[in-house]
Amino acid sequence: MSNPNTNQSGTRTARDLVGRSKDPVLAEDSPFEAMMARFDHAAELLDLDPGIYNVLREPEKQIIVAVPIHRDNGEIEVFTGYRVLHNTSRGPGKGGIRFDLNVTLDEVKALAAWMTWKCAVVNIPFGGAKGGVVCDPSVLSINELERITRRYTASLIETLGPDSDIPAPDVNTNERVMAWVMDTYSMHKRHSVTAVVTGKPIEMGGSHGRREATGRGCMITTKGALKHLGLPLRGTKVAVQGFGNVGSVAAKLLEQEGLTIVGASDKSGAVYNPNGIYIDDALKWIREHRYLAGYPNADPVSNDELLELDVDVLLPAAVENAITRKNAANIKAKVICEGANGPTTPGADEILDELGVFVIPDILANAGGVTVSYFEWVQDRGGYFWEEKTVVKRLNSIIERSFHDVLSVSIRHGVNLRTAAYMLAVERVAAVHRLRGMYA
Ligand code: NAD
Repeated sequence: MSNPNTNQSGTRTARDLVGRSKDPVLAEDSPFEAMMARFDHAAELLDLDPGIYNVLREPEKQIIVAVPIHRDNGEIEVFTGYRVLHNTSRGPGKGGIRFDLNVTLDEVKALAAWMTWKCAVVNIPFGGAKGGVVCDPSVLSINELERITRRYTASLIETLGPDSDIPAPDVNTNERVMAWVMDTYSMHKRHSVTAVVTGKPIEMGGSHGRREATGRGCMITTKGALKHLGLPLRGTKVAVQGFGNVGSVAAKLLEQEGLTIVGASDKSGAVYNPNGIYIDDALKWIREHRYLAGYPNADPVSNDELLELDVDVLLPAAVENAITRKNAANIKAKVICEGANGPTTPGADEILDELGVFVIPDILANAGGVTVSYFEWVQDRGGYFWEEKTVVKRLNSIIERSFHDVLSVSIRHGVNLRTAAYMLAVERVAAVHRLRGMYA
């Protein structure tokens, strides 16, 4: 009987394998399928060796832990935690920890693989990992969150480490949570290990420039795209979905470069002013009122309308699956800079391609954050800390170089930037697998 994974000459190719494990009932918005669709496409175009294709499709390690804690009322509650190491061939696993009710193993697997490709696109010596605890932080006290963090960290003590797996903040985790991870890990090791996490407070080994790094990467890649398309900076109109760390910093830096931010949104709603929204003024409103809704110096629009505004640049910096088959045809922007992870579905990609929209993919556009996390790890290990201007200069250099690397692959192969970024990343990881060979 013939082997279903071999071609007529008996040689297996990635083309024979792609899509094999696709679950037909998973919807367009499954993050794992969205990631795999892009990986499969790149693997086909690269004609990736099927053995390496299979290795890269499977996460190296998937850990599920029970996280029992005492609630403040004395009752014991058991939460579920995950940590996935997708691939560590290029270096230790790197990826955030999220605390959210929607955390699933499927999502953590996708996010871990995304980290593998993102670190490879910017060519930093990390692999991909991700973790999460299924919980609703909004109903937990600070003390309960600390107990969850410490128990989760202790359960993963064999996996975490500056040479093996380095967490960072993600949805609903922050500097304070990273400080607890570092402390718990250090108490087990009997000495301070700052390099076990990034995104720490500066006082305990964090890096200058980390908070602004992801937004800064969005600004640098947007400028690169406009230059490539022959569009000016001054007066170019931008809409930003999500006004948190990534969206608000990117908006501020783009404003400083002469672009006009005409639309902005957060989960409370969206606002539009064709003459421009002054970012410091909007941030002041948020500091005083918590959310953008009600901001007086712009008109209210719906969150859906924000994505379809008549702008030159759209910067989705909030959630996954913002641009889907349903609204992609209504997008008017010439450039989309994906500040968020996975804001565009594969179905929407096809429509945007037809419309000629220049999409800067997440694994390039928002890689500024992990790049400065890498700087933080380097500084912790060297015990020598850089000034902010050094961080900014080195970040600029890595993101600009990566943008041009991806653009070159895109031009050479006649593919869009997303496919080019995946091709570059998959080939870089595959090359290391070929060189290292198969252990045992
Ligand atoms: P954040 O929590 O600081 O901000 C998120 C913002 O999105 C908030 O303003 C929130 O109100 C808004 N929002 C949530 N749902 C929305 C909706 N349906 N419509 C409009 N706005 C909505 O988070 P962040 O750190 O800015 O991260 C945003 C995205 O960027 C996430 O996808 C995250 O994974 C990704 N990302 C973040 C970093 C980083 O360094 N922070 C790095 C890489 C990728």
